[in-house]
Amino acid sequence: MKGLEKGLVAQAGLIAHGRGEAFDYLLGEKTTPWAKKAEEAAVALLLSAKNPVISVNGNAAALCARDAVKLANALNAKIEVNLFYRSLDREMKIAKELEKAGAKKVYGTGGKPKRIKNLSSARRMIDNALWESDAVLIPLEDGDRTEALVAAGKKVIAIDLNPLSRTARKATITIVDNITRAIPEMIKHAKKLNSLDRQKLIDLAYSFNNQENLSTMESLIRKSLK
Ligand code: ATP
Repeated sequence: MKGLEKGLVAQAGLIAHGRGEAFDYLLGEKTTPWAKKAEEAAVALLLSAKNPVISVNGNAAALCARDAVKLANALNAKIEVNLFYRSLDREMKIAKELEKAGAKKVYGTGGKPKRIKNLSSARRMIDNALWESDAVLIPLEDGDRTEALVAAGKKVIAIDLNPLSRTARKATITIVDNITRAIPEMIKHAKKLNSLDRQKLIDLAYSFNNQENLSTMESLIRKSLK
């Protein structure tokens, strides 16, 4: 709600947030061992990337701007603003929030954006930073853009409490956990893993089975409903 009042979150963002809270409740509002494994694999993938990017929308900025910046620093990743309901005013507000949280440079505001293929919404516009990236973390993303980023050849890491969403299904690695717990957990992993050599990071990332992860998370939710 605060995020909406500050002009960071769009009204539709509140609905997405409510969906997330419902799934979190069903998962016991805690990070499961499977989510921890996904968080570790995701960090390994981002650390092994040549040009990792963290893409931040209004909800992500409202919920965890400070931790997103800490994670970007720990991963040596760029941080960019990307909005579904695009407005320059909101872009600037989110960029300011990230700068207040310690980001030295925020990508994705102003400038000449590139367009990803096969996307009709305003989200087809992506900043050069993201265009050039090989691995991207997209917390609370929508399915269309996830699919388009994967089709553009990027390794995509989603944070999404709904293991059935299109985003969750299309991403390379899906972290089914609340962003407010997932990002701090990823910071811890980044500190632990950053001394590993690139091949070890790649092995760790690629040994992760996202299909199995999603089925496990789905069955946990179904069990909690019995
Ligand atoms: P898709 O387009 O991927 O099929 P969708 O239409 O639900 O899914 P969005 O409206 O962009 O896509 O939803 C954002 C997703 O973020 C939802 O699946 C929701 O469960 C999830 N979500 C919301 N709040 C949080 C949170 N705090 N932590 C993690 N995930 C969250």
